[in-house]
Amino acid sequence: MIQFYNVNGELVNAVEASLKVTDLATLRGYGVFDFFLVRSGVPMYVDDYVARFERSAGHLNLDLPISKEALKEQIQALIQVNKLDDAAIQLVLTGGYAEDGYTPVQPNLLMLGRPMLIYNNDVLTKGVKVLLHQHQRELPEAKTINYLTGIRLAGNMKQQGAVEILYHDGQFVREGVRSNFFIITKDNIIITPKDKLLHGITRKNTIALAQQHFTLEERDVTPQELLAAKEVFITSTTKGAMPVVQIDHHIIGDGKPGEVTLLLGKLLHEHDIHYIESRKVMA
Ligand SMILES: *Cc1c(COP(=O)(O)O)cnc(C)c1O
Repeated sequence: MIQFYNVNGELVNAVEASLKVTDLATLRGYGVFDFFLVRSGVPMYVDDYVARFERSAGHLNLDLPISKEALKEQIQALIQVNKLDDAAIQLVLTGGYAEDGYTPVQPNLLMLGRPMLIYNNDVLTKGVKVLLHQHQRELPEAKTINYLTGIRLAGNMKQQGAVEILYHDGQFVREGVRSNFFIITKDNIIITPKDKLLHGITRKNTIALAQQHFTLEERDVTPQELLAAKEVFITSTTKGAMPVVQIDHHIIGDGKPGEVTLLLGKLLHEHDIHYIESRKVMA
């Protein structure tokens, strides 16, 4: 379905795209990535994602081999050559081929396309279950390719009917494996953590929209506060604002998606539509 990937600036047939086995991503798990949607041919919030990609690389002392402008041009070319309408694009920067198997020399840059994952409508009408797990990601502000804990626990998570795991560090709940989270208190105050986490682009958009209608605090959240919240939701590029109705065996609020969550989901959706329309006009 998605025919071409970009490997170090070259468009290659997706089924044949490859790196050599000596890449530090393979040998040492050294690399970063980013992930964004293409909707109606428009790369969504691409400036934000490309900027984060560069910041993540910086945390690993890796330099993007091309400028951000050139990267965006190659993204546009990838969309065109694959005739992408609705899809996802993954950017990956690896440690590259290290002669000694350890020291990065020249990173490899990949751009992969994937079909867009569509969540079942049930998720929004019924909400989802998540689990709590004690873990703190190394380099929390970098989107690294290391998902050891999340992937290792994925089988157990699915067995328990959960769709995500929220990490706490023994003191505060920070983020999900692949999402950020928000809580809404009984007084309709919206709270989301801001330290020791990956700053999601969906989180950023949600904060901006929420601040137009509600009081929002960016601060640490304890597990007790999380469980006592009136509403909880998680955000990510693929999940949007996803209502959480159960955490482990605790029911959140009345066990149904809350009205603030649903309103913010609607505002996010409208924000996306507006972005798509404005970019189409510019194109
Ligand atoms: C990708 C990711 C998120 C979500 O970020 P978005 O930009 O909203 O998709 C949150 N936490 C982690 C650890 C992630 O990898």
